[in-house]
Amino acid sequence: MIRLRCPVCGEEIAFNFKGGREPVGGLYEIVVQHRNHWLKVFIDRQGVVRRAAPVEYFVVVDPPKYTLYVYEGGIEIREEGVL
Ligand SMILES: [Zn+2]
Repeated sequence: MIRLRCPVCGEEIAFNFKGGREPVGGLYEIVVQHRNHWLKVFIDRQGVVRRAAPVEYFVVVDPPKYTLYVYEGGIEIREEGVL
């Protein structure tokens, strides 16, 4: 379990994270949504949070304008209402 204090609102956050492949540069770089804001969290191989920074200018559109579909053969981006 990863725990950190949100750098935006100051609340305590806890989430599960299992590292997969060897991280680039020795740190896992993950983006976490917390309430209506987003954070970039850097975690080392031991599961220690090294740095957390707000993701600025991340616009949440509701309903989403584009949807990303991931298939075994590739990725497709679809604009809502357009098939
Ligand atoms: Zn927060």
